Amino acid sequence: MLSVKEAESIVLNLAQPLDSQRDVETVDLLAASGRILAAPVTGSLDFPYWDNSAMDGYAVRFADVENCSAEKPIALDIVEDIPAGYQPQHTVQSGQAARIFTGAVMPAGADTVVMQEETRREGDRIFILVSPEKPQAFVRHKGAFYQAGTTLLTPGTVINAPEMAVLATAQCIQVPVYRRLRVAIFSTGDELVSPDEPLAPGKLVDSNQYALTVLLAQMGFEPIRLGIVPDNEDALNKVISRAVATADVVLSTGGVSVGDYDYVEKILADLGGKVHISSVAIKPGKPLTVAAFKRGEKNDDSPSLSSDCLYFGLPGNPVSALVCCWRFVVPALRKISGLGEDAWGPEFVRVRCQAELRSHGRRETYVWGKLHLVAGVWEFEPASGSQNSANLINLANTSGLAVLPASETWIWPGEFVEVLKVSH
Ligand code: AMP
Ligand code: MG
Repeated sequence: MLSVKEAESIVLNLAQPLDSQRDVETVDLLAASGRILAAPVTGSLDFPYWDNSAMDGYAVRFADVENCSAEKPIALDIVEDIPAGYQPQHTVQSGQAARIFTGAVMPAGADTVVMQEETRREGDRIFILVSPEKPQAFVRHKGAFYQAGTTLLTPGTVINAPEMAVLATAQCIQVPVYRRLRVAIFSTGDELVSPDEPLAPGKLVDSNQYALTVLLAQMGFEPIRLGIVPDNEDALNKVISRAVATADVVLSTGGVSVGDYDYVEKILADLGGKVHISSVAIKPGKPLTVAAFKRGEKNDDSPSLSSDCLYFGLPGNPVSALVCCWRFVVPALRKISGLGEDAWGPEFVRVRCQAELRSHGRRETYVWGKLHLVAGVWEFEPASGSQNSANLINLANTSGLAVLPASETWIWPGEFVEVLKVSH
């Protein structure tokens, strides 16, 4: 059986990023929210655009005021008022100043701003009471933060609030982003019904499809829901063929274990998929199955899809399915989607454990629970109740999975553990 590390490296090798030429769309500025940049963005404007004032005060010539003080103030004649948004009309000569406001354009002739609080006004004259520290004080220079023609944002960057501000400032109103990943999801099992169906004896609600839909949608991907498929080879064959033909990545749950009705792996192979993983030494999640389908050269007339389709046959137990997603699927999806390598995850933190953790010590064990900030230090609290892979109830509010390495059977309260951070 593969170790978690081996399985992770196989999965990440199979996951190939979208094509930075073909898998790109150009969207309006606001529509780029949460999307991933597919090409470098280069601005054509310096920033600041103009020399401007960082304060409400007076634009002066440093040489005029360098030796003043409250006892020996220097008086200057005010030649104009420059509010933000206006173009100065006068050149400030020796002995003169211009009233200026934050963000307003510096007038020619002036090189320094004296803040209002360090002046006294008398009619059209201003007395400078404190000499500025240095020439150029409180002047924000054109191009000081960014020079036109250099790279503003690099490919792989997610457009969140700060990046949106950068694009807007650069007047970049059309943004090249990677298309959204298409991820097909379906559940397998004769026992499954949807949440709105009557629950006949022996049936179980298909929670996995709901959990996965939300997980994918919150990551900005496009879930394609293919429903519930019975444990029947023909039905599975049809849905898997369709999923592989229409999605970049497929996630199914159930039917990958060793039971008599677990057909998924066989069908993957029948359909030409290469099965790279059929079980992993992880608890929960051992039956994880991963296959790759070659689609060959991309056809420009067909809907844009990645060249290969990656198939994850996740275990049916709800906790196992989510643990496998958090540990293996999410990093793969992030890589395929075009994100930079530092954003693939998974993200681990080493924290103090609040209670004991146990494992049988044969597989790498993931214990679900919550990360808490206690007196400024992060701690892990395992979920109370049964750590059973069918217990999706106490999985609610999970923010971390504590990892017990395969050889580790016991973590004492107060000991440190690696915790995989998960978003909920
Ligand atoms: P399987 O991997 O198909 O053997 O399923 C393992 C366990 O997970 C069984 O108890 C199933 O009833 C349960 N299960 C399978 N699929 C789902 C699903 N979509 N939602 C909730 N539980 C499921
Ligand atoms: Mg099943």
